[in-house]
Amino acid sequence: MAIRTGALPSVSMKTHNGKTKQAAVDAEMKDSAYTTAIRQFDRAVPFLNLKAGIIEMLKRCKRELTVSFPVKMDDGSVQIFTGYRVHHNTARGPSKGGIRYSPQVDLDEVRALAMWMTWKCAVVNIPYGGAKGGVVCDPKRLSTHELEGLTRRYTTEIGPIIGPEMDIPAPDMGTNPQVMAWIMDTYSMHHGYSIPAVVTGKPVNIGGSEGRLEATGRGVMFTVREAFKTFGWHLPGCEVIVQGFGNVGSVTALTAHEMGCQVLAVSDVDGGVYNPTGLNIPKLMQYIKEFRTVKGFSEAEQITNDELLALPCDVLIPAATENQLTGLTAPKVKARQMIAEGANGPTTPEADEVFADKGLVVIPDILCNAGGVVVSYFEWVQDQQKLFWEEEDVARRLERIMIRSFRDVYEESNKLKTSLRNAALVMGIGRVAEATMTRGLYP
Ligand code: NAD
Repeated sequence: MAIRTGALPSVSMKTHNGKTKQAAVDAEMKDSAYTTAIRQFDRAVPFLNLKAGIIEMLKRCKRELTVSFPVKMDDGSVQIFTGYRVHHNTARGPSKGGIRYSPQVDLDEVRALAMWMTWKCAVVNIPYGGAKGGVVCDPKRLSTHELEGLTRRYTTEIGPIIGPEMDIPAPDMGTNPQVMAWIMDTYSMHHGYSIPAVVTGKPVNIGGSEGRLEATGRGVMFTVREAFKTFGWHLPGCEVIVQGFGNVGSVTALTAHEMGCQVLAVSDVDGGVYNPTGLNIPKLMQYIKEFRTVKGFSEAEQITNDELLALPCDVLIPAATENQLTGLTAPKVKARQMIAEGANGPTTPEADEVFADKGLVVIPDILCNAGGVVVSYFEWVQDQQKLFWEEEDVARRLERIMIRSFRDVYEESNKLKTSLRNAALVMGIGRVAEATMTRGLYP
């Protein structure tokens, strides 16, 4: 078991000063999500009066575990997989963060996602630190039996550093409630009794929370609606485009549709669909249940992901993966009012500058998609108390937290005269630094 603290990416190497525009774009495309996370951190820190030691501490991940493990495949062969679990910070409580199954997972990506979880939990003021995990695999190419074997063995490998009081995983890209159920069962088997609070995003029949599946997408739209209200804009009738049609993207699109928006286009990894008069989202959700892709949906024009990002709309919602809006793609974006980040890290710092020049409001990931971790927190509380809430209560409490958090970040951005992203980071980093100083340095 290799546990070590995080090395930092050489961010200074990645500044594009003196390079041609194309070279800068090329360099940016090679940037990892962790480089983006560190660059965002470096922009926020000057707004806070922090000591150098604290800055260095917050910049690094507290604990990183890399595991290699065998899985018996259906054809009788044995395949070795690589997995990670990273704890970025635990000053405000046990670490919390999803588990991603994807061929693109690497340690830098997991570090970035863990760091963003720390700031996110602090922004919405829930008592967690940040973590993330992942396995390098393509879940679409694994049978259910192989996926279960992989999940149970990965859980066993990361077992020493997860637990209801230590680090609580949840779903992310490529994982779902069933995967969380296998994690919960494996962890419980090792301890000899049921420990539902070790993961969130479980099915409701084994201690999951009502409303968790919908939480992130709903939270995105609660935030968008509050932002529209704050800016005096009218949401019903607005044209919305969503990249990614998984858990977050599909619920965001459905909620937008229910709020009276016209969802013009959505996409998944295979491509997108576009209808200039608005897609029938409930029908598309039925379609995807059967065909597992939006591609081929008949009441729409087939488009590529690149075309989707460049379509005119009022609100563009990236809800797929990191680095989608870059120095290269952002200039082509024709959104008129807002970018709302359902995904983690979809926008690079270069793209942020492009959007600022265009006068677009960007609601940052660590605020916009925090609904998932908020209801994960509710699930953990319900598991610990063994007292379960009705969906109405969950949705009402979620809405209250998202509205309050948007208002806090908006106020901070006005006070500091900075973007919503920077304001959210300043708030998150500031709260974590404060907790660190209150606790003091051990030993
Ligand atoms: P998911 O696996 O359910 O869905 C991902 C979707 O994105 C799929 O439709 C997939 O086909 C699509 N996709 C993947 N790569 C793409 C690409 N290059 N171009 C276009 N589409 C692509 O995952 P999810 O849980 O919905 O997560 C999506 C994003 O939201 C991730 O960034 C994740 O970290 C973030 N997020 C998820 C949650 C949650 O509760 N699940 C919470 C907060 C943030």
